[in-house]
Amino acid sequence: MPIDATQPYDDQNVFAKILRDEIPSRRVYEDDYAVAFHDIAPHAPVHILVIPRGAYVSWNDFSAHGSEAEIAGFVRAVGHVAREHGLVAPGYRLLANVGGHGGQEVPHLHVHLFGGRSLGPMLA
Ligand code: 5GP
Repeated sequence: MPIDATQPYDDQNVFAKILRDEIPSRRVYEDDYAVAFHDIAPHAPVHILVIPRGAYVSWNDFSAHGSEAEIAGFVRAVGHVAREHGLVAPGYRLLANVGGHGGQEVPHLHVHLFGGRSLGPMLA
């Protein structure tokens, strides 16, 4: 069920629990600003979720209220994970679903990183 991205941050959401290590995940990277882990239901040979450590529901509040350091750190983390997984030369796809029309289901900002095969044209 897609979320309302204008809702207040819910610290009981599943990615908040993953950040606090209250539920397990297959982490591939972490630093001061971001954590990356394998999606539980992958849609590609590589399907990694990168999330900021900060409490942001979506791209909306992150882009409006994230600090310069948080935004830069998050962007650099996404690029780092792509490089570490050998995706630079073959290419990859980044996707951030936002709110209802975007089909966002987990109310903590995340970027999907897909790769490992030709992904075809962008979906509508
Ligand atoms: P959204 O539709 O919000 O952009 O995508 C949420 C993603 O989170 C989905 O691809 C879903 O498979 C993934 N996901 C949901 N719950 C869990 C979980 O507990 N662990 C992991 N690793 N991924 C999850």
